[in-house]
Amino acid sequence: MRKSVVNTGYGWLAGLIMAGLATHAGADWYKQSLDVMGTRVNVELWHSDPRQAERCTDRVFAEMQRIDRLMSPYKENSEVSRINRLAATEAVKVSAELFSLLQKSIAFSELSNGAFDISFASVGYYYDYRKKQQPSAQTIQQQLPAINYKNLLLQQQTVRFAKPGMRIDLGGIAKGYAVDRSILLLQQCGIQQALVSAGGDSRILGDHQGRPWMIGIQHPRQEQQIALSIPLSDSAISTSGDYERYFLSGNERIHHIINPKTGTSAHTAWSASVMGPDATTTDALSTTLFILGPEQGLKLINALDEIEAVIIDANGVVHYSSGLIDPASPG
Ligand code: ADP
Ligand code: MG
Repeated sequence: MRKSVVNTGYGWLAGLIMAGLATHAGADWYKQSLDVMGTRVNVELWHSDPRQAERCTDRVFAEMQRIDRLMSPYKENSEVSRINRLAATEAVKVSAELFSLLQKSIAFSELSNGAFDISFASVGYYYDYRKKQQPSAQTIQQQLPAINYKNLLLQQQTVRFAKPGMRIDLGGIAKGYAVDRSILLLQQCGIQQALVSAGGDSRILGDHQGRPWMIGIQHPRQEQQIALSIPLSDSAISTSGDYERYFLSGNERIHHIINPKTGTSAHTAWSASVMGPDATTTDALSTTLFILGPEQGLKLINALDEIEAVIIDANGVVHYSSGLIDPASPG
């Protein structure tokens, strides 16, 4: 028997997370937030010196802003915008950093048989969630053939589109990458315990004074409610959901995670969470799992080492990957 998320009632665990701010002789937890990359970034770290804590946090914020300038499709001068403008007509030279993230993105496309595909933007570009706009059926049909990672040609640090009308968007992986870079910077800053989160992507360095952090997974249909909590140390967790950026068209929820096969929002789940060693991986895989749904998606997750997942399907039923114990299952 599977348990419905609607009645799990673990809301108190959110309080537990906030109450974890303990003081220790001379050292303390320092928490700061910044709005960047279209989301709220939180950095929480354990340090004995407030000035050093602030200096390390500032480095993280500067790094997030740097990555945003490099990868935002909304910033005209970003490398991604340059690719979108020029790659249909010429091979565009890019930084080694972006090139490597593009290679990773393609690897996730291959792994997921095209469910994860940064060229989803060939259709995705025509959605505006704030203005409640979606492309017409005709526009989708016209643009759909431009979604195909196989037409994204990477060669000697250049990018080229093999099809006209193609666009890319790293929204399904860039925040996870930024979180990983942040954790690396904090390590270089001498930090041993920290939590960095950027919207739905988080990574923990070390633990919380000898105990795991309890990371809450947002209830996909009840605002400010935690559906369930997962204890985590030294790992990453990402959640993709249909409740962050969406509007309703009749009864249909039009949201920001696009099935590359149809050019429309995926509807097999309310949310998908993936745990693993790094946030680049969990970010790309949570978007992937959301699109594939419980059956196909968990098959993929279960075949991967060191990756676990929880998916809340379109009926509110929670499914767990094979390395987790389903609290509703007997024995
Ligand atoms: P969030 O951005 O809310 O943290 P996700 O990590 O699930 O959530 O990423 C959603 C973003 O991924 C979308 O806003 C879009 O930029 C991008 N995206 C949407 N569909 C796909 C897809 N099929 N493959 C890769 N990226 C996608
Ligand atoms: Mg993601």
